[in-house]
Amino acid sequence: MEKILLHMCCGPCSCYPVKKLREENFEPVGYFFNPNIHPYQEWRQRLRTAREFSEKVGIKFFADNHYGLREYLAKVSSVVDEQDTIQFADGFHKRCGICYSWRLSETARFAAENNFEIFTSTLFYSRHQNHELMKKIAEHFANVFGVKFFYEDFRAGWQEGIDLSLELGLYRQNYCGCIFSEEERFSNDLRKARKKFFYGKNNVTVI
Ligand code: SF4
Repeated sequence: MEKILLHMCCGPCSCYPVKKLREENFEPVGYFFNPNIHPYQEWRQRLRTAREFSEKVGIKFFADNHYGLREYLAKVSSVVDEQDTIQFADGFHKRCGICYSWRLSETARFAAENNFEIFTSTLFYSRHQNHELMKKIAEHFANVFGVKFFYEDFRAGWQEGIDLSLELGLYRQNYCGCIFSEEERFSNDLRKARKKFFYGKNNVTVI
């Protein structure tokens, strides 16, 4: 079995990728590096769940235990403005590119420094991310750090992953991770503003 470093964004999103990688004769080793997750208690909860998942399915697990609130905000502050709450670049926020780059570059670096030849990420399980952009970024940092990036579209196992996470009783979050995504998920004002931006005044409905 070939060892592969698996960047884990959280426990539930790891269920299907770990199963699939094992079927493909890889031995996945988890790595949690997600300073994008806010607030602090949520970050701790997702870290705990990623560790719990790893123990339940029997994979090795490493975590970066440093909470990166200030570094994250410093990195994205130049692209997060009022328009960012409504406008998307190619359907996605500019801050997400920065967020992917940080997490995938640190994963490639960790792989290189800890004798992994190959890495991948559970981000490729999510149906809510910019898949092509993440792929380009992962390939770029694989080259930078002299390791290989294993690409697989784990979205194929979306429902299976949900079912597995429920069977394991894992905590399932309901927003992407950063404080901005939390606001976008729960703010009615932002939802209305986005609808107005995309569909015009007359079609705005409150949800
Ligand atoms: S929405 Fe998700 S991917 Fe985008 S910046 Fe926030 S945490 Fe990162």
